[in-house]
Amino acid sequence: MIELDCKYELHDTLRDIRMSGRTIGFVPTMGSLHDGHLSLVRNSVEKCDFTVASIFVNPTQFAKNEDLENYPGNYQNDKNLLEKENADLIFYPNEKDMYPADFSTWIIEDDISKELCGLSRPTHFKGVLTIVAKLFNMVQPDYAFFGQKDFQQSVLIKKMVSDLDFPIEIIVCPIVRESDGLAMSSRNFYLNDDERKDALLLSKILFSIEKSFQDGETDVRNFILMKDKVIDDSNPSNLTIEYLKFLNPETLKPLSKNNKSVLVAIAGKCGATRLIDNIILQ
Ligand code: AMP
Repeated sequence: MIELDCKYELHDTLRDIRMSGRTIGFVPTMGSLHDGHLSLVRNSVEKCDFTVASIFVNPTQFAKNEDLENYPGNYQNDKNLLEKENADLIFYPNEKDMYPADFSTWIIEDDISKELCGLSRPTHFKGVLTIVAKLFNMVQPDYAFFGQKDFQQSVLIKKMVSDLDFPIEIIVCPIVRESDGLAMSSRNFYLNDDERKDALLLSKILFSIEKSFQDGETDVRNFILMKDKVIDDSNPSNLTIEYLKFLNPETLKPLSKNNKSVLVAIAGKCGATRLIDNIILQ
């Protein structure tokens, strides 16, 4: 596996790959890799001739009061995991190269980014879209792989690619969960045992809604009552629900009568850790 931290070397290396007619798949990450990230790498390795994974904890997507300083990271472990999955190149740029002191150009989506997580994290998606656009320009992949886990992010990246004509196909891969249902996340490392128990209620709420939908329930008001029941039954001391929303998964707009599928998105704070999860009902 090739390891590069210099964007110019990355450019030269990938130009040669492209010239040889090989397709390039790209998996951007912030490191601290788990099986959710690795599932994206597996998809890329299967579909593309050459797979690039990046590791960069992007400071501009964290607000001042968020967890940038404590964000987990273990480069050597990440590198071993990527090597095992047969990734071809790992790109781990440094902050100065990505954001020189005079950096002043940003990508701002003006609509969908204000919903869901954008309400409590108003600058988050500006940072995400800007770094993803920069990485897309550096890697120039044919395909880029993202997780359904960050559903709003995946919709916004597809929107950016469409609005700004990036010649890249975005592939969204399913959520990988722990055996008990908790969606894998680098932030799960922050949870103590009690918080970990309470965090499980997020997926429990989604699964109970999914089950009742499969049994024929379609009234959103009853789904919300189900959430209340899961919370009342467990009475978690560490969890507060930030939102539970039912939206059109294509547009992230409110549901209309003819929706073929429904995004159920949930976010909560478990102790100091903010967690998100979702399912699609169809
Ligand atoms: P992050 O390192 O958190 O920025 O995530 C990098 C990529 O991995 C994003 O496309 C995430 O959506 C994806 N990802 C994170 N957790 C999961 C998961 N549990 N299942 C599938 N994809 C995931």
